[in-house]
Amino acid sequence: MSKKEGPWRITFDTNPDDCNLKCIMCEEHSIYSCCQTKRKEEGRPRRRMDIGLIRKILEESKDSPLREIIPSTMGEPLLYRQFDQIIELCHQFNVKLNLTTNGTFPKYGAVEWAKRIVPIGSDVKISWNGATKQTSELIMIGSNFEKRVQNVKDFIRIRDEIFASGGNFCRMTFQLTFIELGLEELPDVIRLAASLGVNRVKGHHLWVFTNEMQNQNLRRNTDSIQRWNEIVVKALDAAEQYRLPNGEKVTLENIYPLNESAMEELISDGVCPFLGEEAWVSSEGRFNPCCAPNEERLKLGEFGSLFDTSIENIWQGTAYQNLRKNYLKHTVCKGCNMRKKATNAENRLALI
Ligand code: SF4
Ligand code: SF4
Repeated sequence: MSKKEGPWRITFDTNPDDCNLKCIMCEEHSIYSCCQTKRKEEGRPRRRMDIGLIRKILEESKDSPLREIIPSTMGEPLLYRQFDQIIELCHQFNVKLNLTTNGTFPKYGAVEWAKRIVPIGSDVKISWNGATKQTSELIMIGSNFEKRVQNVKDFIRIRDEIFASGGNFCRMTFQLTFIELGLEELPDVIRLAASLGVNRVKGHHLWVFTNEMQNQNLRRNTDSIQRWNEIVVKALDAAEQYRLPNGEKVTLENIYPLNESAMEELISDGVCPFLGEEAWVSSEGRFNPCCAPNEERLKLGEFGSLFDTSIENIWQGTAYQNLRKNYLKHTVCKGCNMRKKATNAENRLALI
């Protein structure tokens, strides 16, 4: 049993300003976002985490519930220059790596990355937003559909070889943002996942950051909610019909019908899946309680810097404990896309 209190998983925002794509829904890198242009105009350097901070937090987390880390989910983590050191730290501290990547596998290519990641990987999520070249490349601007499909095949081949020889099993996931442009193709994304050996299809409804994305939001009116609900039925059918090579079903996460109140709140009685469970650390060392967009989560309070204090102190501190008790009074939390019906640990684990 753990002797310390703390999160079971920590996400480190290693390199949020580095990405080789410009997905339309992206807070930082979208062709519609001014974040990166503003950063350059203001002469701010790219944010990159000191690898020493990750080591410090892992040291502090010995004998805590920590069992998994996630490198940046904003930006492409495989572009982080010290990524190999993150892998070494996972081996050294016996924690798993949970990775979200855009599937371009820069620097080493999919095969070499798989050899390094799979032995310590719990789950590799590949951002996937369409079943056709046209839709996929319209959403993930700068990507090449055929190349990414080949990368998934290569990665899974190594994943399966490592598992077959008695090594670690690393789950594979397609990670989507549910938007109008990709809506009709969701059942085919599930079919594609099954054919490739991708175990899970998971997504979130859109956080709208720019005017251009307002009409992509599937929660914007009754008509869009109705069309989402129709696709949900087809998606469930697809998961039943198209099976993984081993005959199992592709697991679907967050693909369920919505009612009209979802225009205001996704689930009115939903709870936060992250408070008391997980932690986020910004590239500058700031403790964040969740993965809400940066401008939103900054409104949740000031919890301290991991350069100045330990994660255990912040976790048990008054500011964080107050948020845990009172978050449903916060406007940000009321409108949050990530609240879930889940009330037990088992359901919460299904979110990862
Ligand atoms: S791959 Fe991720 S970080 Fe890069 S543009 Fe797309 S959503 Fe943003
Ligand atoms: S915004 Fe609030 S409810 Fe949503 S994930 Fe963050 S803390 Fe949880």
